[in-house]
Order: sequence, then C-alpha cells, then structure tokens
Amino acid sequence: MAVVAGIDIGGTNIEGAIVDDDHSVGDSVKVPTPTEGPEAVAEAIKGLLEELGAEVDGIGVGIPGPVNAGVVTTPPNLEGWQKSVNLKALLATTLEIPVEVGNDVNVAVLGEWSAGAGKGSQNLLGVWMGTGIGGGLILGGRPYNGTTGHAGEFGHMIVRPGGAQCGCGHRGCIEAYAGRNSMEDTARRAVDGGAASTTLFSIMEDKGKDRATSSVWVKALKNEDALAVRLFGEAVEAVAVGIASVMSLLDLDRVVIGGGLAEKMGEELVERLWAAVEPHCFVPMDSVEFVVAGLEDYSGIVGAAALGRAGLLLGG
Ligand SMILES: [Zn+2]
Repeated sequence: MAVVAGIDIGGTNIEGAIVDDDHSVGDSVKVPTPTEGPEAVAEAIKGLLEELGAEVDGIGVGIPGPVNAGVVTTPPNLEGWQKSVNLKALLATTLEIPVEVGNDVNVAVLGEWSAGAGKGSQNLLGVWMGTGIGGGLILGGRPYNGTTGHAGEFGHMIVRPGGAQCGCGHRGCIEAYAGRNSMEDTARRAVDGGAASTTLFSIMEDKGKDRATSSVWVKALKNEDALAVRLFGEAVEAVAVGIASVMSLLDLDRVVIGGGLAEKMGEELVERLWAAVEPHCFVPMDSVEFVVAGLEDYSGIVGAAALGRAGLLLGG
C-alpha cells in the first residue's frame, strides 16, 4: 500500500502526518509557515517530510485559497504570496513525488466525509467557523469544487446587500458578520467610538493573545458580555441564513460545522445554528442532520491525504 502524507498549510504553521488508507493518522510534525513565499513553503514541506522519517509515495496538501487544477488561483491569505501559483507543479518538482493540492476547507470537509462526522452523506455542506468562514460541498456522493475551484466559498455568500465590508472587497458577506477577525474589528470600532464597552479585550490580554481567539469569545459569552452576545447573535444569524439558502438550493442530508469555534463550543453551537436556520428553511428540517466536525484538528490532514491517495490511484 502506498505511503501517503497529508499536509495542512496554515497562516502560522504547516502540519503534516502519514495517514493510512483506513484514515488513521500517525505522529504529526509541525513547522512554522515561512513568510518568504511559495518556494520557501515548498522547502519547508520538504523538511517536514524528512522529519516524518518515512519514504513517502505521494502527498495531498490543503492551502487557504481557491485552487483550480493545482493552481492557487488568487494569492492565498499567506504572507509573501503575491500572485497565483501552480503549487502542485512547484511541489512535484521540489519533492519529486506526485502531489495533489486543494483548498484547506474543501480538504477538511473531504476529511470529515471520508472518516469523520460526514461519513455516509451524499449531499453535505461543511461550514468552518474560524478567523474567516470557509465551506465545502459533497454533492451526489462526490466532492464538488465547481468550474474554477471556487465552489463552497460559503463565507462570501451575501446575506445583506450593501452591508458590512468584507475582506474580499464585497459588502454583506457572511464572513463580514461571522468571521472572527471581522467580529473583533466590529467590537473594536464599537468600543473606540464609545458606543459600547466589552470585556473581550481584557480577556484577550489575560490569555496573552494578540487576537480574539475562539476561546476568548467563548469566555466573553459565558460572562454574558453584552457586546459579545450581540455580535455572536448576528454571526449565528448570518451563518444560519446562508445555511438555510444552501439547504433550499441543494436539498442536503447533512451540515457539518467545524473550525475553531466548533471545537470550542461543540453541540451548543450546532443547536444554536439549527434553531436559527429553522425559521428560514424551505426544505423539511428533519431531512437534514446538523453535526459537529469529528476529527478536530486532523480533518485537514486526513482530507489532504485522501486527496493525495486519490491522485496516486488516478496516476495523477
Ligand atoms: Zn466576502
């Protein structure tokens, strides 16, 4: 059986592990994500594979950004990347093994569908709630990436025309209300403008964080911080409107909620979302299961390896 590694490229770290064909994950290795651009990232992955200490036959890679046929089509949210890059070709040349590349959340959803909370689903939407809002689709029992690799960009569905400014340049995207970075910026503006006070930033300092992480939000919500409660309510509503619309369009059988916030809040988040989707939904709610991602940090690695293994089988 071929030895395949799954690699998860994040803004801070690159993490990788050997993943067996039954999707069990070996000891993982983490290296800092270089800030000097694609070639440096390729070299870091080479070093990571050496550290894994096995002869690897092929790899799959997840990266934040839309991916079309191995090309990361717009600069991903990574320091030092200025333009589209054929990461598949670059890695294949650097590593001299077959490589498959996918969008990080599409790959994580593939991981959950292969071995986690999405197992057995035919029509699945994955929504990943973290610094941004990502998504991924399984349709008709197959991963669906769309015409140009942009399918599943759930965070950039528009729920309020002319609404809040999103990092993508558009207004009213789900991410502009529910992405952790957007929520933090909104909170900061409210405080700086004197319109509200909040414990968010003091919790952040106490925890020694320079951004409001999921655990900071969870603590503020537990303290019934009024601003945090209001912004979180708006986030849930924006995500719920998006899920209800996707359900009406695609007649799903499962919705998997993942990402940092889902890891911290679990069932509570899923129940909040279900209750907020229900009033908007055209299709019967009892035909759709809402679940928390089951592989936690490893959905990206498992999915990337599944992608890499599928590539090897296709001779790709
Ligand atoms: Zn957007």
